Amino acid sequence: MSPTTTATMLEVRNPADGRLVETISVDDRDAVTRIATELRLAQVTWAEDGPRQRSQWLHQWRDWILAHTDELTDLLQAETGKVRPDALVETTASCEFITYYANHAEDFLADERVRSAGLLSLPKRLSKTYRPHPLVGLITPWNFPITLFLMDAAPALAAGCAVLVKSSEETPLTCARVIEGWHEIGAPPVLAHVTGASDTGSAVVDAADFVQFTGSTVTGRAVALRCAEQLKPVSLELGGKDPAIVLEDADLARAAEGIAWGGLFNAGQVCISVERVYVVAQVYEEFVARLTERVQSLTQGVGARDDVGAMVTARQVEITDRHVSEAVASGANAVAGGRRGEAGNYYLPTVLIDVDHTMACMTEETFGPTIPVMRVADEDEAIRLANDSPYGLSATVWTRDHARAQRIARRLDAGAVNINDVFSNLFAMTLPHSGWKSSGTGARLGGADGLHKYCRVQAVTEPRFPVLTRELTWYPYSARRTAIARRVLRTVAGRGLRQRLGLHQEHIR
Ligand code: NAD
Repeated sequence: MSPTTTATMLEVRNPADGRLVETISVDDRDAVTRIATELRLAQVTWAEDGPRQRSQWLHQWRDWILAHTDELTDLLQAETGKVRPDALVETTASCEFITYYANHAEDFLADERVRSAGLLSLPKRLSKTYRPHPLVGLITPWNFPITLFLMDAAPALAAGCAVLVKSSEETPLTCARVIEGWHEIGAPPVLAHVTGASDTGSAVVDAADFVQFTGSTVTGRAVALRCAEQLKPVSLELGGKDPAIVLEDADLARAAEGIAWGGLFNAGQVCISVERVYVVAQVYEEFVARLTERVQSLTQGVGARDDVGAMVTARQVEITDRHVSEAVASGANAVAGGRRGEAGNYYLPTVLIDVDHTMACMTEETFGPTIPVMRVADEDEAIRLANDSPYGLSATVWTRDHARAQRIARRLDAGAVNINDVFSNLFAMTLPHSGWKSSGTGARLGGADGLHKYCRVQAVTEPRFPVLTRELTWYPYSARRTAIARRVLRTVAGRGLRQRLGLHQEHIR
């Protein structure tokens, strides 16, 4: 049920039943360029308005979204096939990104005074200021059309940027409606949505000053190359193959419940889904029995009581089916699910056992409702296999031993580790969300860093003693002054100014 695109129009269909939801027009390169020009013009005043005034607009926008929750959730379900609880997370919890950055922008954007750290800068007053990138281009995928938009748009707008959003051609409707909300409250015209596929996306890359891309590793690499050619900063949040490690001292009931939800939430279409599980031999049988029981109990559909919804694209169903059928052909067993649904973009919630790293289900991103489980000898083997991946987005560790979990976290090559839990790093706005290895470059969120990333940092210096006509280092030179300067500079550089003068480098905000 992928959208049909003609040169100018795009059909959005409901993945659950193929019903046409809406036909919308595609924005070509000229349209993107024109919209970008208008955004740039409006951004000048937006930046001058300051964080307090911008925060007021952001709060009003959040209130508009919350007042339209039902309408937005209906639309989101129609274009994604999500079950209602999964869709509601997007249209409610994601508002926290707006609240957080609206509430903290003034503090995060304040100028910072910085102490001098060398002889030549000692007589200077030093500070850092944060100046927004004029135009941020946001390119988002189809799995979370609202969450992945708001978690980047909120800090960028709070920073004073204008934002041009290209949501996925598979799911453009709800994002476009949320942006209509911005205009309905009468906010300044610094936020716009464009529709289309890769051509529209690359026009956004070309038009923006900073690109925030979320999507597959393949497309992310192409976007990064394009940005490199233009010397344009880019942040990439890409694919993953997140491992879970279940140890012999784990609370197995919690581990099975957590991994079932972490693997199947949003029909497994989450960048930080549990995509592979390593269980030590002593508890393997019991864990598999518990997990299988939970997964078999789940219902599928988009009804009010259903647990697992449809998948957004037919292509993703194909990939999931290939991973499962290839694994089964190589000796794996599907103890739950293991096949497509009867109609629509459905794939049954699946548990695979007897899997290993020769199978794509353990090494490639599946992005579907499957949980392959592998028996391992011990903790060391689990860590080695967890790290045996080109991806490094996040991981989970299940044990009752807190110190052991912390130790293991430090051996895992992943941007986040959730202990006895899944997904909790995603809504922890004070923590960075970043992929290692082929899962990305840069980071989002992370408190002040999440806002500073949308700014250019300006270094400002000022003499402490502006009454002097000349600095000691200025003209004219003389042999005597050069000799003194040489001695002083060599002494200080050699011994370290910090020890000699007891100076330390720290922010004094
Ligand atoms: P995708 O890479 O196919 O598309 C992502 C976006 O890029 C879409 O809007 C698409 O139209 C656009 N695009 C395509 N070609 C482009 C080009 N040449 N220039 C600019 N834009 C272009 O990804 P997808 O299939 O929509 O999403 C699924 C992927 O996203 C998965 O790999 C998943 O892991 C990843 N993802 C990552 C995160 C994260 O935070 N790390 C979050 C969600 C999804």
